[in-house]
Amino acid sequence: MKIPFREIFPPLSVFYILVAYILASLIWWSMLHMRKNKSEFENKATIMRLMAERQGRHPEDVIHSVEYRDLEKKMHRQNQMIYGEGIIFLLILFVGAYQVHSGLRKEIALNRQQRNFLLSITHELKSPLASIKLTLQTLIQRQLSPDRSKGLLNNSLQDTERLSTLVDNLLMAAKLESQSVQYLPEEQSLNGIVEEVFFHLKNRGNLARQIELELEEDLGISGDRLALVTIVSNLVENAIKYSGEGDIVGAQAFRSAKKLILRVYDTGIGIEAAEKDKVFEKFYRVGNEDTRRTKGTGLGLYLVRQLVRLHKGTINVSDNVPKGTVFTLEFPYREFAEASSPMLTKKSKA
Ligand code: ADP
Repeated sequence: MKIPFREIFPPLSVFYILVAYILASLIWWSMLHMRKNKSEFENKATIMRLMAERQGRHPEDVIHSVEYRDLEKKMHRQNQMIYGEGIIFLLILFVGAYQVHSGLRKEIALNRQQRNFLLSITHELKSPLASIKLTLQTLIQRQLSPDRSKGLLNNSLQDTERLSTLVDNLLMAAKLESQSVQYLPEEQSLNGIVEEVFFHLKNRGNLARQIELELEEDLGISGDRLALVTIVSNLVENAIKYSGEGDIVGAQAFRSAKKLILRVYDTGIGIEAAEKDKVFEKFYRVGNEDTRRTKGTGLGLYLVRQLVRLHKGTINVSDNVPKGTVFTLEFPYREFAEASSPMLTKKSKA
């Protein structure tokens, strides 16, 4: 069996060897230079001693001569130059090596995450399609009671919703990646959008979570509707996915000074401190493919953060008390003109 070269010699070990080689040759060249410097000094000092002897003086008297001292000073200066240049070179080497090293590590991690992403996306696409296909085949081949049929159709509806969210997320990620997303600021109601997402959630049935909603009215926000729905629904879907039966999933939205604050929280499994920054990275999922029980692509929070930034907002994650996670989003508050406020009020009551 042919073992790929990359696996025998991982890219980082080639890099470490290269840095070690540069370091060793730097030390070797510096020592060689200093040795040559010293031997040049000793040769010149010997000539001085010989000349002193010829002139009938004691050879060791040259040590006190001006020429000898100048020669000594020159040797020290040259040694200092070698030290100085060596230190500068070392510093540049370390800074460069550190940057290349962290760049390579990031690249390797991204490659691994991309591979995981492809695996999980294939699974995410295949499993709802297989279950919808099975439901349709069952409904065609068998005469089921209306209740049973309704149950199966409800499950398929959930599967299509999952597929549709996945495709929306993929499209949005592709758009963000090509930097072709530009939103015309449109008047939206943040409380209306949150209510709408939770309304769909409640309609889904067999949710087994306690829902809490605390929304101020007329929270006007300037942005894109689909993007804002994507933000809220990704956070809410995660709150459900990473919590269990009987846990609380909730949202709060209110105005504070010139900001709109939206909190989406749960009493689920929570996120460890070391993972809190990483969860917003593209394709990042906590844990590894073998131990992870939940499905996902690692795109959700990446999309959320990018979209929040496009709306000039910020997002933070913290621990909920006594357990779980809180995502806090802050957007600039926008007071809309009187003429357009009925739209906001209408939506917020939907
Ligand atoms: P995924 O498709 O894996 O859910 P996300 O980008 O939405 O991808 O989330 C990244 C990771 O952050 C998840 O794998 C999960 O471990 C963690 N996470 C996200 N939301 C929550 C939450 N509400 N509670 C606990 N962990 C969460």
